[in-house]
Amino acid sequence: LVSFILYQSDLADNIRTLIYIFGDMLNSVGAAGKVFEYLDREPEVSNKGTLQPEALTGHVRFHNLFFTYPTRQERKVLQDFSLELMPGKLTALVGPSGGGKSTCVSLLERFYRPQQGEILLDGQPLQSYQHHYLHRKVAMVGQEPVLFSGSIKDNIAYGLKDCSLERVQGAARKANAHSFISQLEKGYDTDVGERGNQLSGGEKQRIAIARALIREPQVLILDEVTSALDTESEHMVQEALASCPSQTVLVIAHRLKTIERADRIILIDQGTVLEQGTHTELMERKGSYYKLIERLFTEDDAPH
Ligand code: ATP
Repeated sequence: LVSFILYQSDLADNIRTLIYIFGDMLNSVGAAGKVFEYLDREPEVSNKGTLQPEALTGHVRFHNLFFTYPTRQERKVLQDFSLELMPGKLTALVGPSGGGKSTCVSLLERFYRPQQGEILLDGQPLQSYQHHYLHRKVAMVGQEPVLFSGSIKDNIAYGLKDCSLERVQGAARKANAHSFISQLEKGYDTDVGERGNQLSGGEKQRIAIARALIREPQVLILDEVTSALDTESEHMVQEALASCPSQTVLVIAHRLKTIERADRIILIDQGTVLEQGTHTELMERKGSYYKLIERLFTEDDAPH
């Protein structure tokens, strides 16, 4: 959130966004603990990188990372942690609560820096890329997408100057949001502030996916909603992810359907990669992944 605000150029916009975001957080997130969790996050301040390659494949490599949070140095969160995200593939991170999934994402977003090891994007350390460039190329959609008061169009086009409706609609189509938006009385002019509470979790997340995709990121990170979604919304979010063939997609996955369709599943526990492979491979292995799936999901794919 903090980096999202800092990257905007206009100060008045920043302040307005801050008010919206905090209002939104306090309303929708509710729990004070969660708010402090956000505030506690420190954006990576170093801004010395200069790389801005025209072509980026979106290959990501976490290389022998060691990480502890600055506020809790006694707890080693990631230990000699390595993983690889392949261009154009959907990778699902799974694992027990507290295993380190969100921490991986925070490091990729550069909210924190690892004490040892590095994260490489197309073979170059993250910090060697120009700040704004990286922000455009690596996009994150959280569980509680931040939508501000304003039209759906403005929410999707946020921060882009002179963005046409066609471009907004193109992104919404890719995010599987176009059809539900078109069915609203005011379509893309619907005010999210007024209607925000009437949008389902899946609809909000698809608007947020459209907002990410319109910037044409090469790496898309999604923290899948844990709360129950209607089947239609759930299906639509999964379809949207599957229709990103040119992007590297990383999902913190909570739903069996998402996990099953991932090109690669990475099981993280206690800050290390325990197992990785496809759903079929890992089920056949009958190891930790098999046990996790047995424990978390019932026949009808109940989210944990
Ligand atoms: P969940 O599925 O519950 O979201 P997770 O696999 O994403 O869990 P993380 O949130 O990455 O796990 O947490 C890994 C460890 O780091 C946990 O022990 C957690 O308590 C700790 N941790 C997470 N965020 C912070 C923070 N901001 N400050 C200190 N410790 C943290």
